[in-house]
Amino acid sequence: MLKERSALKNIKPYVPGKEITGNIKLASNENPLGPSPKAIDSIKLSAEQVSLYPDGGCVLLRNKLADKLGVSEDNLVIGNGSDEILLLIAGAYIGPGDEVVISNVTFSEYEFSARLFGASPVFVDLKEYAYDLNAISQAITPKTKIVYLCNPNNPTGTIFKQKELDKFLVEAPQNVLIVIDEAYYEYVTSPFYPQTTSYYIESDKFDVSTSYKNIVILRTFSKIYGLAGLRVGYGIARPEIINSLNKAREPFNVNRLAQMAATAALEDADFLKESKANNEAGKKYLYQELQELGIEYIPTEANFIFMNVPADCIELFEKLRDNGITIRPMASFGCNQSIRVTIGTPEQNKFFIARLKEALK
Ligand SMILES: *Cc1c(COP(=O)(O)O)cnc(C)c1O
Repeated sequence: MLKERSALKNIKPYVPGKEITGNIKLASNENPLGPSPKAIDSIKLSAEQVSLYPDGGCVLLRNKLADKLGVSEDNLVIGNGSDEILLLIAGAYIGPGDEVVISNVTFSEYEFSARLFGASPVFVDLKEYAYDLNAISQAITPKTKIVYLCNPNNPTGTIFKQKELDKFLVEAPQNVLIVIDEAYYEYVTSPFYPQTTSYYIESDKFDVSTSYKNIVILRTFSKIYGLAGLRVGYGIARPEIINSLNKAREPFNVNRLAQMAATAALEDADFLKESKANNEAGKKYLYQELQELGIEYIPTEANFIFMNVPADCIELFEKLRDNGITIRPMASFGCNQSIRVTIGTPEQNKFFIARLKEALK
């Protein structure tokens, strides 16, 4: 009889944010303004070249990214979404018997990638909806290979600060890889947000101490750049780590259109500015409306809001879904009276509030 690997025993297939025809979708933190127009143009231009394999080294994109981030091309690996980079990390560094440390109520792909390669997750609770770096430090054992940090955290939208991270990194053992997922980096407004790329810049200003070396920073083109459907994400790390990830990577992991579109989107500063402004305006509007409704929300540094609702979240999700709007119920995180809602366009936000009012009546 055919038997699946025992590592798969504890893995459930991923349930994505539902796309329902005709509905406004505020369930997957996509950019409500769509893709960057420059990205669309470049996809059209490259359409005739799809008979050719893509550049297996993503040279152009890495070159542009390195310039923009102030790091070296050798510090970068591009993936089929940052989801793929999580798989490369797991494939490069963990196996059965290893432990990884993951927070409760965070992005599900850390647990998935770790379990797929046979490692055992050790879970740490959030503290007031935010990552508790002290508790995470204490959860590290001699078996720990990876610690996953999501900043801002999906689904709560909270951040940990530079000072907390610095302290954590100094204490962390040298043989533990620290993954810092910054999928919502471009949306953050807090002045206390860690400037993690500074760890890779050789300069007098920053202390590139050895304590800081085992880090992979993850970012993506799926969120503010509006390219979720093309799948492009990247990892920033020191060259030795990038080299290990490249060993686990298939040769043509990022498709041609994705590489071209991401390269173009990177240069579209206007689109980024507009997307961020839309997010800030939407945040302000939603905070005010939620306050008036007496709904507790967690202030967000990302493009979504986690809120506690006076209802069963699945029932609320179904009601909203049947009335034209899809949001994300938090039951799968054990938060049965919470939902996560992506900040949309002004019209979408208004529609959400109107439907929410009706649903809670
Ligand atoms: C959306 C998201 C990602 C993005 O993944 P891609 O594979 O790049 O689309 C990564 N991490 C977090 C926390 C996310 O919310």
